[in-house]
Amino acid sequence: MNGTDMLPHLCEMAQAEGYSLYLLGAAHQVAETMKDKLLQSYPGLKICGARNGYFDWDSQVDSVIEEINAAGTDILLVAFGAPLQEKFIRCFAPRINASVLMGVGGLFDFYSGRIARAPMWMRQIGFEWVFRLIQEPKRMWKRYIIGNPVFLYRVFRWKVNRHYGKFE
Ligand code: UDP
Repeated sequence: MNGTDMLPHLCEMAQAEGYSLYLLGAAHQVAETMKDKLLQSYPGLKICGARNGYFDWDSQVDSVIEEINAAGTDILLVAFGAPLQEKFIRCFAPRINASVLMGVGGLFDFYSGRIARAPMWMRQIGFEWVFRLIQEPKRMWKRYIIGNPVFLYRVFRWKVNRHYGKFE
């Protein structure tokens, strides 16, 4: 399940249990817009902070982490896209007090309405990536035109190795 489909379930759970969410990522003001929209749909949901994802990892990360911790974050959503968000989480998780740190890719762009999602029928047949490629060909061609075959090749190689008892 991708971040955008998961969000309603997460918000319902957080609302019921009183967990607080911090929205970290996307361009200037996108996380703030998302926060406003979330509060309209889930009144009472605790959103303890929202901040864009463009800061210097060397000179500014300390203040970002301080802010996340001081806000009493339970669930940190990191929307930097893959693999940046995974690197961030791996690198800084030991210093972040939140119980859950989750990479959610372009979720904030979709939820805030900055970028449209593919129509439902396209999502249902697994072709959301084609829609995204058409929307942002310059940024997405490497990921999908090169990335998809490379991914399939790696799965194939892994299966062959597994069959012959070799693991990577
Ligand atoms: N982004 C960010 N900081 C960065 C680079 C990217 O916050 O240093 C954000 C960018 O603004 C966008 C998201 O990360 O909102 C990347 O979204 P993408 O659609 O690539 O993610 P996907 O859902 O495809 O993994």
